Amino acid sequence: MLRGLVARTKPFLAPLRTAGLSTQTAGPRLNVAFFSAHNYDIDSMQAMAKKENIPHDLRFFPHRLNLGTAQLATDCDVAVVFVNDTVDGLVLHKLKKMGVRALLLRSAGFDMVDLDVAKELEMPVLRVPSYSPYAVAEHAAGLMMTLNRKYHRAYNRTRDFNFNLQGLLGFDLHGKTVGVVGTGKIGALFAKICTGFGCNVLAYDVYESPEALSYGVTYKKLDEVLAQSDIISLHCPLFPSTHHIINDDSISKMKKGVMLINTSRGGLMDTEAVIRGLTSDKIGSVALDVFEGENGIFYEDHSGEILADENFAKMFTFPNVLVTGHQAYFTQEALENIAKTTMDNLQAVATNGPYPNRVVI
Ligand code: NAD
Repeated sequence: MLRGLVARTKPFLAPLRTAGLSTQTAGPRLNVAFFSAHNYDIDSMQAMAKKENIPHDLRFFPHRLNLGTAQLATDCDVAVVFVNDTVDGLVLHKLKKMGVRALLLRSAGFDMVDLDVAKELEMPVLRVPSYSPYAVAEHAAGLMMTLNRKYHRAYNRTRDFNFNLQGLLGFDLHGKTVGVVGTGKIGALFAKICTGFGCNVLAYDVYESPEALSYGVTYKKLDEVLAQSDIISLHCPLFPSTHHIINDDSISKMKKGVMLINTSRGGLMDTEAVIRGLTSDKIGSVALDVFEGENGIFYEDHSGEILADENFAKMFTFPNVLVTGHQAYFTQEALENIAKTTMDNLQAVATNGPYPNRVVI
């Protein structure tokens, strides 16, 4: 069922459109369907389209893409999606049949797309490879600070004139060991922030990053990083090889009281194993910006509803768990960069390539 409409759009009949811009850019005018479009996405895309003189017909829909909503892209050349849209084989076949010839992601991560089917259908998949690694690295640092010093609890207490410190005890970050799993653009920056706090930073990646090394990071085997770190932050992509990289076995190798931070993808963690680790006190605290079952929960207001995902609901029973709703990327700079690269990607489709931001495995 389609629901949760953004007031400014009239889906199906009259989507919000960008019209009347002059045509100075190369290639034909494209019809473009944006899925999962919130007001902030529409504002940033329209502002960039205007700035760049983009001639295309931009149609914004608040709905997440799935088999039922794909029809919204009727008459469109391009579908533009975000992290919680469903772009499996069935959806891709349906889009292709409707005439959609390219898929654009407003994200760096592409785990929601069946790339094999996209390749088979000769449908280029273009992403925004980097829009603000600072946004995500800084958010991870914010989660680390909040979990440690319990700002979220202090905020609620002091609003109630309760100035008791019981339960708010933290630890010095200085001198602690932070383990970074995945030292790409975001992980390397997070490592840099941690060295600023005086932490000793260990890292695991399939490749060593010269940037991370320049910040003084020491690469170790994954098991050594798990065993020696007081804080572990995940920054690798979700691949079959990284699915549930945090599981009962890996948790058993960690220090008692370890802090876990996940701003990367929910599927990196076996949620039930994390709950077992929290219940047994093996894990000291957890911060999640992403969650395995977030699709259908995040980016929407569910207040007043019963949360059907029992694991997710259970997370909220732990005072040492902090959840944000996939907002690590959400800064002004990131939205602007996402809009700019999306416009560039649309131009690449209009001219039938080249595709510098094509997802290639
Ligand atoms: P990146 O491609 O620059 O870096 C990813 C790193 O992970 C690379 O260094 C790669 O070698 C490493 N890696 C690959 N397989 C690995 C494995 N098996 N074990 C350890 N490391 C491995 O990506 P990035 O821009 O730094 O983004 C990292 C992740 O952050 C993305 O994949 C995405 O899932 C997530 N992300 C989240 C948000 C958010 O709002 N929460 C926003 C952007 C990105």
